[in-house]
Amino acid sequence: MFQYSSSTMTQDGTSLSPEQALQHARLTFQNNQVYSIKQRITEVKRVIEYIRINRESITDELTQATGKTRTDALVSEILGVLDNLHWNCANAKRILTEKKVHTPITLLGKSSRIRHEPFGVILLIVPWNYPLHISLTFAIGAFLAGNCVIIKPSEHTPMPGLLERIFAAAPLLASCIQVIYGDGKTAQQLIDAKPDKIFFTGSTVTGKKILRQASEHLIPVDVELGGKDPMIVFEDVNIQRTVAGALWGAMTNAGQSCTSVELLYLQRSIFNPFITQFKQAMEELVINTGDQGNADVGAITTNFQAEIIQEHLEDAKRKGANLFSVGQAISATSRLIPPTLITDVSEDMLIVQEETFGPVVCAIPFDSEDEIIRLVNQSPYGLSASVWSKDLKRAQRVSHALQTGAVSINNVMLTEGNPALPFGGVKESGFGRGKGEEGLLAFTRSKAIIIDKQSSKKEPNWYPYTIKKYQLFSELIDTLFSNDWLKYIKLALVGGKLEKTSQQARGD
Ligand code: NDP
Repeated sequence: MFQYSSSTMTQDGTSLSPEQALQHARLTFQNNQVYSIKQRITEVKRVIEYIRINRESITDELTQATGKTRTDALVSEILGVLDNLHWNCANAKRILTEKKVHTPITLLGKSSRIRHEPFGVILLIVPWNYPLHISLTFAIGAFLAGNCVIIKPSEHTPMPGLLERIFAAAPLLASCIQVIYGDGKTAQQLIDAKPDKIFFTGSTVTGKKILRQASEHLIPVDVELGGKDPMIVFEDVNIQRTVAGALWGAMTNAGQSCTSVELLYLQRSIFNPFITQFKQAMEELVINTGDQGNADVGAITTNFQAEIIQEHLEDAKRKGANLFSVGQAISATSRLIPPTLITDVSEDMLIVQEETFGPVVCAIPFDSEDEIIRLVNQSPYGLSASVWSKDLKRAQRVSHALQTGAVSINNVMLTEGNPALPFGGVKESGFGRGKGEEGLLAFTRSKAIIIDKQSSKKEPNWYPYTIKKYQLFSELIDTLFSNDWLKYIKLALVGGKLEKTSQQARGD
């Protein structure tokens, strides 16, 4: 069942088992520790250049493998990756270099440092919706931080050889990243081979399985999981622009984004005019046929996802919702689901409760700020949200109250567009942060170092403990945490006494 990429082959061409692939990665990790961050950045720049030059052929492969539109592939995957890698190159040295930190007065004479050390081998388990972006952004972040990486792409979008071709532009990087093709079982075997950290992006159900399995080996896991993202629109917005934002947020990548707008909350006074304009805008959508870059909405990538979307639509219809669709499913095998707006929804519908992951959005009216915050925070998910209002104070107030990992104000899915911002969820949307400074540091273990001089002096808190020392420590606590303006003079006095006592033997 398993096929392995050339990078997991030995020189004589035999393939490696998951355990052997892990061992290979571990050995490479040890051998490659000599390379500096500067050398690693040079490698990443080669990858950036390769992708920039070959973006048309990569777009071809992406659209074929996923069914997404050319513009979705070019903008959300290729531009997204390039932007993230470019930011990493510009910032990795600053973020990852060993840092000196403050040493308190009680540790006078010492110096303190933090080293950001690589984990070793990172296992990256990747979903099918953004197969290029997610693989490259995180694998290369992990590589920059000094790790070796094993990527397990989704069996639904393996794109065999594409990642390896991209990595081949940078030989050191290529030697540090292996791609292992296979299904969920392959991922399980890789986990049992004990990587040093797992970075998982995918559904909440699978995320929980991985956490259970990884806990057996005490492997740390970051989980970027599903969402049911709300867009909250107050009555003072520019309706035309907000409609355009909502439409794109709901339909981009045919709704197969973890941060797609699935719930469109509209303040009641603008509900009807908003819906009217939204329907008009939907009528103008171009559904993917012979796409040259001019199609808006592409296909659903997998049959099973198309079935889930259909099931949600059927359930909503059966329970009394109102469905407005544009375009037609072109053929049973095309997996083109017509973009659909749903109104008159109720709490018991699958389309309101579960992640739909399709070109489908529910519009729901609300009355007040308090009500909408309560409604959104009831959701088990908490990936991202958007808040739209001319009143920026209100928008910020609401954004602070939402239990989500990100909020875009007067825009949609935009936090992902800035590589400096962290990405990740709360509640059933997972934990851990990818991207930005936190994202790079997530691929490191922080090591604390404190440096003292070689001398004959003993520390005050070392033995022997004496009543006199106890009293001096008590005096130190009072002085250290007082607001007395003579504090530092008093500290010097008590510190001096402690110092002297500490050099004496018991009974001196
Ligand atoms: P899945 O959870 O089904 O799969 C994700 C990856 O896990 C795939 O590589 C899959 O392999 C693998 N896998 C499956 N079973 C196991 C297992 N038991 N142990 C270990 N690995 C396993 O997610 P999808 O691929 O369907 O992706 C869609 C989901 O991803 C949505 O819920 C979406 O919201 C979420 N997502 C979250 C993002 C975020 O950053 N929060 C970003 C993008 C997507 P295989 O496919 O070969 O079965």
